[in-house]
Amino acid sequence: MAIATINPTTGETVKTFEELSEAEVQRKIGLAYERWRTYRATGFEERAEWMRAAADLFEKEADLSAELMTTEMGKTLASARSEALKCAHGMRYYADHAAGFLADEPLADPSRVGARRALGRYQPLGPVLAVMPWNFPMWQVMRFAAPALMAGNVGLLKHASNVPQCALYLQDVFRRAGFPEGCFQTLLVSSRQVEPILRDPRVMAATLTGSEPAGRSVAAICGDEVKHTVLELGGSDPFVVMPSADLERAAATAVEARVQNNGQSCIAAKRFIVHTDVFDAFTDRFVSRMRELTVGDPFEASTDVGPVATEQGRADIEEIVDDAVSAGATVLCGGQRPDGPGWFYPPTVITGITRDMRIYLEEVFGPVASLYRVGDIEEALEIANATTFGLGSNAWTDDEAEQERFVSDLEAGQVFVNGKTVSYPELPFGGIKRSGYGRELSAHGIREFCNLKTVWIG
Ligand code: NAP
Repeated sequence: MAIATINPTTGETVKTFEELSEAEVQRKIGLAYERWRTYRATGFEERAEWMRAAADLFEKEADLSAELMTTEMGKTLASARSEALKCAHGMRYYADHAAGFLADEPLADPSRVGARRALGRYQPLGPVLAVMPWNFPMWQVMRFAAPALMAGNVGLLKHASNVPQCALYLQDVFRRAGFPEGCFQTLLVSSRQVEPILRDPRVMAATLTGSEPAGRSVAAICGDEVKHTVLELGGSDPFVVMPSADLERAAATAVEARVQNNGQSCIAAKRFIVHTDVFDAFTDRFVSRMRELTVGDPFEASTDVGPVATEQGRADIEEIVDDAVSAGATVLCGGQRPDGPGWFYPPTVITGITRDMRIYLEEVFGPVASLYRVGDIEEALEIANATTFGLGSNAWTDDEAEQERFVSDLEAGQVFVNGKTVSYPELPFGGIKRSGYGRELSAHGIREFCNLKTVWIG
C-alpha cells in the first residue's frame, strides 16, 4: 500500500509521502542505537518529566490530533478526541508507576541460594520496532511507546501506511516534550521494508498489533533471529447474553461494543450469543438500536458510525456478508452498502449462521454483528470458543455461578462480565490462541521489553 492520507469519507487522496530510502532507514536505526546507549542511563524521574510533558501536549492538542485521526481513518471526531485524552492518561500512568513496576525484586532469604544478596533487576533491551495498525492510530502506539520509553528502551515506529500524518505527529510530540533525539522515531516504510529492520542486530525486539498474517510474518522473522516479540492480533469476541441479564443494558452495550470505532476494533464484540429464553426480546432491542444509528460524516457531531477506513476493508466486509447470505443466513438490518462517495457500510445484524459460513470463524472488521440462538450455557460456551481467536470476551448474567463459569471457561485473554471489553492502562491486555501472545499495559506491559536480570552477590 502506498504511504498516503486518503480520506475514507470522500475517497480522496489528501497527501502522499515518499518511503524512506534504505540509507535513511540505516541512519535512523544507527541513531536509535547510539541514543539508547545514553538514554538507558537516564533516571525514571527524568523520563517521567518528558513523558508528562508529552501528555500535556496530547491534552492541549487533542483537537488537532483528533482531526488527523478522523481525516486519515474515519473515526468520529468525538471518539478521536477521547483517544487523544486516553493517550495522555496512559502516558501519565507510566510516568507515575514505571519506577515501582521496575523496582528491584530482592530475594527475602538470599542465603537459601548461597548469596549475601540476590535479586531480579529489570533492564531495558534497546531499540524496539513497533509495527502498528491504523484503527487506534495514537492509542495503539502509546500502549507500546509509553512503557517502552519509561523502561529505558527507544522506539522505532512502522505505522500503517494509511496514517502517515498520525505517525509523524507522534514522533513530533515526543521530540517537543524533550525526549532526546532518536528516542522515538517514525519510519515511513512499507511492510516490505520491515524484514531487514527486524534482522538488523541493533534492533533488539519487536511488537506488532495487526492482522494474523502480518503477525505470523514478523514472528517468523524474529523467531529466525531469536528476538523477543509481542503480538496483538485479531479477535472475534463473543458477547453472551443469559436469561438473568439486564436486557436493556445488555442491548445498549452490545450496540456500542459492536459499532465502536466504526466497527473496527480488535476487542469489538462481534458474535452475539443469546439464550433462547431471551433471544427475541434481546434481538428486538438490539436490532432496533442498530437501525437507529446515524451513519455519515465523522466530523459531524450527530454521526454515530463513520466510514470503514479503507476501500479494501469495505470489500472484505461485503465478501464475508455476501458469503453468509448466499449460504442462507438472514440479514435483520443493513447488509447493503449505500450509494455515494466514501467507504460507508451500514450497521448490520445477521442470524441463521451455520458452521460452513466464513463468518462463523473469521473476524469481520466493520459494523457487522453475528447473532446466535443457544439453548443453554454449554452451547453458549461451545460457540463462544469455536473461533481460532481468543482476545476479549463478554458475558451478561446476574447469576453468580454462571459468572464464575464464564470467567473460568471462556477461552480469551480477557473476560468482562456485564460490560464490554475495554483497554485501560491499569489492566493487562492481550490474547491467546491466534489473537497473539504477550501482554500490553499494566505492570506486565512495561516488563515485556525488559531483561529481568538475575543478580547474585556472594
Ligand atoms: P495489518 O494489515 O496487519 O496492518 C497492521 C500493521 O502491520 C501495518 O503497519 C501494516 O503495514 C503492517 N504489515 C502488514 N503486513 C505486514 C507484513 N507482512 N510484515 C510486516 N508488517 C506488515 O492489519 P489491519 O488489517 O490494517 O488492521 C486490522 C487488524 O488488526 C485486525 O485483525 C484487528 O483485530 C487487529 N488489531 C488488533 C489489536 C490488538 O490489540 N489485538 C488492536 C488493533 C487491531 P501497511 O499498512 O504498510 O500494510
